[in-house]
Amino acid sequence: MQFLISLAILAPMMGNDFNVDKVATTSPKRADKVVLSDKDWQKRLTKEQYLILRNKGTEPAFCGVNLNQKGDGIYYCSGCKLALFETNHKFNSGTGWPSFFQPIGNDVIWFQTDREYGMIRTEVLCARCDGHLGHVFDDGPKPTGLRFCINGKVLNFVKKK
Ligand SMILES: [Zn+2]
Repeated sequence: MQFLISLAILAPMMGNDFNVDKVATTSPKRADKVVLSDKDWQKRLTKEQYLILRNKGTEPAFCGVNLNQKGDGIYYCSGCKLALFETNHKFNSGTGWPSFFQPIGNDVIWFQTDREYGMIRTEVLCARCDGHLGHVFDDGPKPTGLRFCINGKVLNFVKKK
């Protein structure tokens, strides 16, 4: 919780439409919620996507998927096709994972405290399918100071025409 509280203090200084205070910390109720059986998820996703989205896996750093995109575009969830991130909010973090300083909106993701591996981190999940996307850290660039560290294999990039 410590981390979420420090994010809340940063929020009023952000000066853009993203407000970390408005991000849900439980699975959001949505009319378009995607709920599938484990079997159906396995059919819909590749093996790697399934491991990340449904089993909170992490792709290897620098696997290259969606890391160095050219041109403006939108990144959609591979699980449910919800628009999550856009090129304008992307930056090169040097970590080897696609990194964004904010999502497309307050309501496309939600946060959950992750205590795996003896660390306390904030997990980022898709608001529509509850798929695991990655984590958020507070060492990102302006204007938000946040770094959304996201698995590239669970994002589908579509270039703007
Ligand atoms: Zn999704």
